Amino acid sequence: MRVRVLGSAAGGGFPQWNCGCPNCSGFRNGTLKARPRMQTQVAVSSGSSHWFLLNASPDLRQQIFATPELSVAPSSLASPISTILLTSADVDCVMGLLHLREFQPLHIYSTLSVRRILTEENSLFRVLARSNPPVRWDSLSLDRITPLAPPTSPGAKDGLFCKAVPLFGGFPDYVSDSLKGSLPPEEAVIGLQFVHKEKRLFYAPSFSGLGEDWQRSVDESDLALLDGTFWKDDELIQAKRSRKTARDMGHLPLSGERGMLKRPFRLGKTRRVLIHINNTNPVLNEESPEHRAVREAGWEIAYDGMEFNL
Ligand SMILES: [Zn+2]
Repeated sequence: MRVRVLGSAAGGGFPQWNCGCPNCSGFRNGTLKARPRMQTQVAVSSGSSHWFLLNASPDLRQQIFATPELSVAPSSLASPISTILLTSADVDCVMGLLHLREFQPLHIYSTLSVRRILTEENSLFRVLARSNPPVRWDSLSLDRITPLAPPTSPGAKDGLFCKAVPLFGGFPDYVSDSLKGSLPPEEAVIGLQFVHKEKRLFYAPSFSGLGEDWQRSVDESDLALLDGTFWKDDELIQAKRSRKTARDMGHLPLSGERGMLKRPFRLGKTRRVLIHINNTNPVLNEESPEHRAVREAGWEIAYDGMEFNL
């Protein structure tokens, strides 16, 4: 299984166009040692030329151009991308679907609740149905295995499978209260566990830290790409960018007594990588004590173009 990071920042990217925090201004004036990052986007392939997109970021068009494997081959009319899996209906997870609307048959997997939000509540996404055949939606049921790609021959164990893991986040603010009230809350935010040839990837770019399913999914995986949005719970309040804490926004902060870095993970097997890093997070500064603390705790920090072969 190939896993390619096309973008590794939280919403707004890094630097963010309207932000003057120490990270963003330090990057702009050249005094900060850090990489620029597009908004979080990951692509997965089980070895064939076909790629699966994990969510569809607002930067998707630029990210496809930056990745030769995702381009249309000169002799072919078909894109190697035709399937997208959604972890939530958040704007940063779905906006890129509009980049894919140009009359190409698409296959989208999500929970039934995310599908209802996009198809019933938001008429903008009806542009996806203009292709012939129209977009095909399939539901990801919680804790059930969904086959994404069949094995190459009968009996071969190289099929690609996916399991949806409930992460107990909230529905986005833009969803009306009446629709929200009719949707099961465990379908709001999911993690995705992929299995290919007995190797496992767990993808959870946004999670609250509630429940226990996510930690088990991390421990049984070879690679885990996990929510690294905020260093501190009150990071955006201190930066005067929001009145909400990280936890109010559905993100488990990295530091603090109950933060991600203090969680007990099984040692050895899992390569743990932070992704979806907000522009205010001091771990972006490669010379900061927070960056060093993350590395010393056994974590890696995703960057655009990072690639894994499992
Ligand atoms: Zn900033």
